[in-house]
Amino acid sequence: MNTKEVIDEEAIWEILEETKNPVPKTVLGILDKAQLKEGLNLTDVGSLLNTQDSAIIGKMFEISGRIKDEIYGERLVFFAPLYLSSYCVNDCDYCGFHHRNPEARKKLTLEEIAEQVKVLENMGHKRILLEAGEDPNENPIDYVLDALRTIYSTKSGKGEIRRVNVNIAATSVDDYRKLKAAGIGTYQLFQETYHRETDA
Ligand code: SF4
Repeated sequence: MNTKEVIDEEAIWEILEETKNPVPKTVLGILDKAQLKEGLNLTDVGSLLNTQDSAIIGKMFEISGRIKDEIYGERLVFFAPLYLSSYCVNDCDYCGFHHRNPEARKKLTLEEIAEQVKVLENMGHKRILLEAGEDPNENPIDYVLDALRTIYSTKSGKGEIRRVNVNIAATSVDDYRKLKAAGIGTYQLFQETYHRETDA
């Protein structure tokens, strides 16, 4: 898959150009649509990003705050990140796991994972965010599934981990089914990108 199939940068720039100086009526219509909580398209988002009118921007904040409250309520959720493996085949400049980094790599064994989980449980944590670099050989789905089983079955004096959210590379439908069957909480996929001209 080439990068254009993942993110069509030209199309994004075109939309940002086409939606410059949006008329207030259009933006207010998009804000009405947003309140239905059924999603916005790229042109809608372009118009919102190009809005300069401070009164409409204020309305945007008010509506987005209300939608956030309706979906999440007034609560804070704490979770502890647990990094399983620093092996990664990618090369994102900002990340210490990037492939060119000559530092030694580390991948936790199941015993080491259990030790870390006990430390977190004894600090009172109930939720973990499992993280691993993208490396199909070092961090295959079976490794992640073994880690999940280990985390959920490790109990200590202060309790247990009730929810493991998973932040790993995009994978296949079959693998997502396996993650669901393993009882994960949320699966997170960060679509990381950057501004090519600035990076060049
Ligand atoms: S894919 Fe993730 S872990 Fe790998 S280098 Fe990029 S940000 Fe780091």
